[in-house]
Amino acid sequence: MSDQQKPEESCAPMFDGGLYVFLMRLTEPQSVQVGALGLFEFPEGWYLYTGRAKRGLAKRVERHWTLKQKLRWHIDYLATAAGSEPVGAIVIPESAGISECFLNQLIGQKFGGQVPAPGFGASDCRNGCPAHLYFSRAPVSLLAMAQVHPEAAVLIPQAGIWEPPLHKL
Ligand SMILES: [Zn+2]
Repeated sequence: MSDQQKPEESCAPMFDGGLYVFLMRLTEPQSVQVGALGLFEFPEGWYLYTGRAKRGLAKRVERHWTLKQKLRWHIDYLATAAGSEPVGAIVIPESAGISECFLNQLIGQKFGGQVPAPGFGASDCRNGCPAHLYFSRAPVSLLAMAQVHPEAAVLIPQAGIWEPPLHKL
């Protein structure tokens, strides 16, 4: 990397808007007040949060790493809890035509579908998702997550990693 290159440029996706599934880990169980949604017990383990950014997708994913204040989305409350560790995300371009809720439900089916906080991240959901956050006690990998869609790519902002979709490798 040259001095002129900013780190965020090195891991910016090739598209600006789309879906993401953010993977994080809690290293210890936590009780977390999730804004107005309520107080929930989050067990130690792995969390998969599905969201959508119409633009600035990479920045949105990066926000989940660096956030310390101005909590806005439900995931912000969990991502800033003690013992919370961001792992990475998969991202899918808007042009892939897959809906946020369909992706969320695929993730739920593939990773066990445990819902620690009903309604989490699903305030705007009109498709009957129990939440847009799933929990898995068993470890989850980004590569396993990327198998849910042929256009899914892996994004790890802090590590500067941007892996293109697997089918293009
Ligand atoms: Zn939904």
